[in-house]
Amino acid sequence: MPVNLKLPPMVDGALDALLPSHCLLCGARGQGGLSLCAACEAEMPRNEMYCARCALPLASPAPLCGRCIRHAPSWDTAWAPFRYEWPLAQLESRFKFGDDLAAGRTLALLWCASPRPVGLPDAVVPVPLHHSRLRRRGYNQVLELAGTLARHLGVRLCRDALVRTRATDAQTELSAVQRRRNVRGAFAVRADWTLPEHVAVVDDVCTTGATLAECARVLKRAGVQRVDAWALARAPAHG
Ligand SMILES: [Zn+2]
Ligand SMILES: [Zn+2]
Repeated sequence: MPVNLKLPPMVDGALDALLPSHCLLCGARGQGGLSLCAACEAEMPRNEMYCARCALPLASPAPLCGRCIRHAPSWDTAWAPFRYEWPLAQLESRFKFGDDLAAGRTLALLWCASPRPVGLPDAVVPVPLHHSRLRRRGYNQVLELAGTLARHLGVRLCRDALVRTRATDAQTELSAVQRRRNVRGAFAVRADWTLPEHVAVVDDVCTTGATLAECARVLKRAGVQRVDAWALARAPAHG
């Protein structure tokens, strides 16, 4: 079933009356078409202290994380308004693996309602799924989020500009080094696309940054001048 995320932004309070909803997490009454109650929305782990270059959540204020000081990523700036932690992680896995489209719509609206970065790109490019996985799942959850965000920000969506040229192993169980190897050479810019000078490549969750870094590298090689890396949520560093 195609996902319909064409809801107006949540600032429209009239949606309350039109879309009485229940909180996806606790069952209380939702608000603003969000399918979250005010208390659960307040629990969402906002990413408020982070590395300026890669958006990694930091435990104490610092301009950059240790990894970016040693080796700057291939993208220019990053935006990840949430930390990938409970309860947002629960909504994301329901959306990604459980076909829960209300959870997806809620995540998209949370992203749209987050303070936007300065210097918006000319276009957003979603991280693609390999066609074999797309066939199994029926939809690309990243495209659904990126499409809603692009409409909200008034930025062009380049939905097929990047393609996944080979299927990759699920990244979940892999180390950072394995993740980089796993996605190396897995993406290409389609030859019939001419991309603008400044784009943002969009993923749902950024864990080590390997996927976004590989996409940014490929986009730059195709002539894009500035690539920003956007994800709804960034996982805190392990250990
Ligand atoms: Zn709730
Ligand atoms: Zn960093």
